[in-house]
Amino acid sequence: MTSFRLLLLLILSSLTPILSSQSILRTFLEQYTIIKINDDLYCDSWRFSVETNDAGIWRQVPARCIDFVEDYMTGDRYPSDSGKVGEDSLLFASTVEITGDGKDIWVFDVDETLLSNLPYYALNGFGSQIFEESTFNEWVSLAEAPALPASLKLYKELQGLGFKVVLLTGRDESQRNVTKKNLLFAGFSDWERLILRGPSDRGTTAVIYKSEKRMQLEAEGYRIHGSSGDQWSDLYGSPMATRSFKLPNPMYYIA
Ligand SMILES: [Mg+2]
Repeated sequence: MTSFRLLLLLILSSLTPILSSQSILRTFLEQYTIIKINDDLYCDSWRFSVETNDAGIWRQVPARCIDFVEDYMTGDRYPSDSGKVGEDSLLFASTVEITGDGKDIWVFDVDETLLSNLPYYALNGFGSQIFEESTFNEWVSLAEAPALPASLKLYKELQGLGFKVVLLTGRDESQRNVTKKNLLFAGFSDWERLILRGPSDRGTTAVIYKSEKRMQLEAEGYRIHGSSGDQWSDLYGSPMATRSFKLPNPMYYIA
């Protein structure tokens, strides 16, 4: 129970001193249920707003939605939503004519797209706390992030169809070795290229950095048929892939 709900229940309890303990408990439960239903409804709408990017830039999960995000990320819904994204991606991918010259590619983001940092975020409030780069980098250096099962499945299916896979991440070039190690640990292999932020990419927004890299890929003759990412900044910008697929992420936003 969040401190917000606890506070409300304490206020309610102070308003009912003359009731018997049983009826106080009943009132508590009724009020808790009402608050929970209201919060779940609100937070489901909040999630829609952030996933569609209607919300624009946001920095933290609202206090009343921490439980909702935890339930979403650790329950059945997150893998189900991710699975649907994978299914839609594969449906499109199977319509692409692969030429066989090795230039038909699919671009994947890494964090919350191929690799899940849920073990880290579970210990850090599921996005309700301000992002702390130093502790996140410590987690990254462990190279223990598991695969997102739906993305691992899609990754292998795309390779089976003949796509080359390019990984385009906002991680720093200094994290290349741990990223490679983690990807292999999680079951990913045989990527065409792993692109990280080099010295000249530092300080640029994700949209500009990723667009520039897609432009370079196209200049090399690659055809970017599909792109998968958990942030709109993975997908927006010119040039774009023919089709872009947005994975769910209600824990953080990268502009
Ligand atoms: Mg990501």
